[in-house]
Amino acid sequence: TLDVDVATARAWLQAAATSMDDHADHLSALDAAIGDGDHGTNMRRGFSAVADKLAAAEPATAGELLTLTGRTLISTVGGASGPLYGSIFRAAGKRLAEPTADLAEALRDGLEAVQKLGGAQPGDKTIVDAYTPAVDALAAAVADGADPAGAARAAATAADEGAQATIPLLARKGRASYLGERSIGHQDPGATSTALIFAALADTLEA
Ligand code: ADP
Ligand code: MG
Ligand code: MG
Repeated sequence: TLDVDVATARAWLQAAATSMDDHADHLSALDAAIGDGDHGTNMRRGFSAVADKLAAAEPATAGELLTLTGRTLISTVGGASGPLYGSIFRAAGKRLAEPTADLAEALRDGLEAVQKLGGAQPGDKTIVDAYTPAVDALAAAVADGADPAGAARAAATAADEGAQATIPLLARKGRASYLGERSIGHQDPGATSTALIFAALADTLEA
C-alpha cells in the first residue's frame, strides 16, 4: 500500500505549488499554441492559493488536506482546469477518509472523478492522457512491492511519457478541440501539468 501521512501530503502540495510557479511560463506557452495561453497562470494561481491555505490551516489527515486542496482549486482557478483538478483532489481526499484506503486508490478515484466531470477518454489529448498511465504505473508498482518513492517515480515517468504522447493527438475535449486538425503536433498543457504533479510527489517521497 502507498500510505502518506499529513506531513508528507503537505510537502507534496507545497512542492507542486513551487513546480507550477517554476513552470508557469512553459505551461502557458503550450496553451498559447492550442488554447488561450493561460494554463500556467491558472495553475500558478490555484496552487499558490493552496499553499496559502495550507500555511493557515492545520488539516488533521491527508484526506482532509487533499479535500481542502480540491476546494481551493475550484474556487480560485477560473479556467477549465480548476474544476477538473478540483474534482481529482476532492475525490482523492474523500477516498483517503476511509481508514483502509491508500494514495494509489485515492488517486484512482481522482481519475474516475475527472472523467465523470469532463467526459474525456484516453487519447482525447487532455489531463487524462498523463493521469491514466500514472495511476496504472502506481498500482502496478505497489502490487510489485515497490517502496513509496519507487512507486511514485514510476508514476511520474509514466505521466511524463503520457504527456509527451499527446503531441500527435487530435484534441477532442476542451478549448484545443476547437482547432480540430490544427491541435496536432503540440503537447497538451493539462497533461503536462499533471506530469509535474506526479513528479512533485516522487520528489517528495524520495526526499
Ligand atoms: P481553459 O481551457 O479554460 O483556458 P486551462 O488552460 O487552465 O483552461 O486548461 C486547459 C487544459 O485543460 C487542457 O490542456 C486539457 O488538458 C484540460 N482539459 C480541458 N478539457 C478537459 C476535459 N474535458 N477533461 C480533461 N481535461 C481537460
Ligand atoms: Mg487555457
Ligand atoms: Mg482560459
